[in-house]
Amino acid sequence: MDAGTRDTFEQRNPSRLSEVTGLFPLSSKEDTVFAIEAAQSAFLKWKALSPFTRAKYLKKVLALMIGRREEIAKIITLENGKIVPDSLGEIDSAIAEMEFQINEGIRVFGETIPVTIDGVFAYTIKEPLGVVSVISPWNFPFNVPVRKIIPALMAGNTCVFKPASLTPQTGYMFTKLFDDAGVPPGVLNMITGSGSIVGNLLVTDPRIKAISFTGSTEVGMGIHKKAAVHATRTQLELGGKNAAVILEDADIELAVKAVARAAFACSGQWCTSTSRVIVVKKVAKEFTDKLVKATKEIIVGDGFDQNAGMGPVCGTDQFENIMRYIEIGKKEGATLLTGGNIIKNNPFEEGCFIEPTIFSNVKPDMKIAQEEIFGPVLSLIPVENLEEAIAVSNGIIYGLSSSVFTNNLKHAMTFINQTEVGFTHVNLMTSLKEPQLPFGGIKESGVGLPEAGKTGIEFFIKYKSVYMKYN
Ligand code: NAD
Repeated sequence: MDAGTRDTFEQRNPSRLSEVTGLFPLSSKEDTVFAIEAAQSAFLKWKALSPFTRAKYLKKVLALMIGRREEIAKIITLENGKIVPDSLGEIDSAIAEMEFQINEGIRVFGETIPVTIDGVFAYTIKEPLGVVSVISPWNFPFNVPVRKIIPALMAGNTCVFKPASLTPQTGYMFTKLFDDAGVPPGVLNMITGSGSIVGNLLVTDPRIKAISFTGSTEVGMGIHKKAAVHATRTQLELGGKNAAVILEDADIELAVKAVARAAFACSGQWCTSTSRVIVVKKVAKEFTDKLVKATKEIIVGDGFDQNAGMGPVCGTDQFENIMRYIEIGKKEGATLLTGGNIIKNNPFEEGCFIEPTIFSNVKPDMKIAQEEIFGPVLSLIPVENLEEAIAVSNGIIYGLSSSVFTNNLKHAMTFINQTEVGFTHVNLMTSLKEPQLPFGGIKESGVGLPEAGKTGIEFFIKYKSVYMKYN
């Protein structure tokens, strides 16, 4: 990226910290204001287009995205560290979500509603909000922007987008698709750099009519407070501490497979990763032995290594934070069953590699059972029965995703009815999602309408009621 005369910041490959992946412009406050103004000047023209015309533009973007799938996947792996198949999976998920949201965007229509006054015709119109800001994290640097920006633009809004500082090149690859597809200037604008400076402006500027943010609960709550000053609409997708509950009547093989994938894929850095397993004591030994065996089989390596099943964690801050939690777990008295170490031997010495880690005998009030670690660290919590399992799984501040493994319909329904989350699963991993269903958390995992599904576009729309006397 050409920074012009601006200051720059560098990023490094989390598999090889000596390798600089790029120099990126450190956008200033002035750049941010310029981006907001560009979005504002493009708004009325973009709003005036038929949704079918907007869809035509975005279908061109989609075609380019499909054509550049492998090129973009390489950049995701370079910046984030996730293995190439998971980077490709992220793009495929983004493509599916984009197709769905483009189609949703041509089905935005109001209603005609009978009123009490003779000779008056009344109806509703759904309109775009104006300029919206999108702030995204590094863990899904491509899919999250797609999930937010496509419905925003289809609804007729224009947008200022800030990718995470750890993954600016992926953000740039995404934005460039719009330029190359001929989407009019100003419709989508990107700034890069510090969240606390440029990100903050995207939250506090009164010209921003809605903020769609995905990231940590701490930053999200700060945004929520600031947005209230101008009554700006927010959609905040935040942290999680997702539980998989294993009951005595579970298919243990199925549960082990699902937990091993959802706990350690992308080094446990999915917001929907399983980070707690709440297991009924009767089957705890069988489940634990099989899970430890499956975990030890995971090969950790550079994301470009075809044999690797798990890459590094994304950057040195993540690395230090996760290692700090592993030490906390040991001090709290949990039993370290496997992992817990930095992988230092050649060729790992230069990267942010941590062994997939499992603690057992974890008590529900321990920090490692309560706080989001966001890394390859899993806590196993033993319980007596379903009732206790539900109480433990709900006994946290978060409410993003959950799963129950059981072959008993009554147990499954009890769990579904009582689990405090935005989305839940039976005999499936905590991370499963489809574009047609809403995606978002409750409690301190989310605020505002969920992304994806029908609510994805609803968030970016306002209603106008029209009363017309014709007689
Ligand atoms: P983060 O909160 O540190 O940063 C997210 C984004 O906010 C980045 O672009 C950052 O630059 C920006 N930012 C930072 N400070 C800001 C401020 N004061 N004002 C405005 N913007 C600011 O989160 P992260 O480390 O990038 O991502 C990891 C977190 O994201 C985890 O907690 C994870 O659970 C969460 N996450 C949630 C979901 C979900 O759908 N619920 C999905 C993915 C990730």
